[in-house]
Amino acid sequence: MKIGVMLRDALRRLLGRPLTIGYPLKPERPATPRGYRGMIAYDWETCIGCMLCLKVCPSGAVSVADRRKVTFDVGRCIFCGQCAEICPVGAVRLTSEFEMVAVDRSAYRVGPRW
Ligand code: SF4
Ligand code: SF4
Repeated sequence: MKIGVMLRDALRRLLGRPLTIGYPLKPERPATPRGYRGMIAYDWETCIGCMLCLKVCPSGAVSVADRRKVTFDVGRCIFCGQCAEICPVGAVRLTSEFEMVAVDRSAYRVGPRW
C-alpha cells in the first residue's frame, strides 16, 4: 500500500465518526442485524418431542428432558440455527438477545417448565 493512501485512510478514520459504539457504557442497546442468531427461545408446550433438533445439533447442546421434551444447554450452543431450521412446529428459535452473562451455568439451560 502506498504511503499516501495509508495517510489518507488514517486521516479519514481519525476525523470521521467512530465505527464502534460505547457499549455497554451507552445506555441504549445496539441494534442487531436481521437474522442475528442469539439466545435460544424454546416453546416447550408447542414441542412435539420429535427429537430432530437433538439429531442435527452439531455441538451436543440438546438433550432429552422429561416427558419427551428437550433441553438446550446454551453454554454449549454455537448458534448455528440448525435446530430452529429443522423443528417442524417452530418450537425453537434463535432470538436477537445477545446479553448472556451469568455466574451459574444452570442459567444457560433452556427447557420445559413443568
Ligand atoms: S443453535 Fe445449533 S448448536 Fe445451538 S442448540 Fe441449535 S443446533 Fe445446537
Ligand atoms: S425439533 Fe422442535 S418439536 Fe422436535 S423435539 Fe426439537 S423443539 Fe421439539
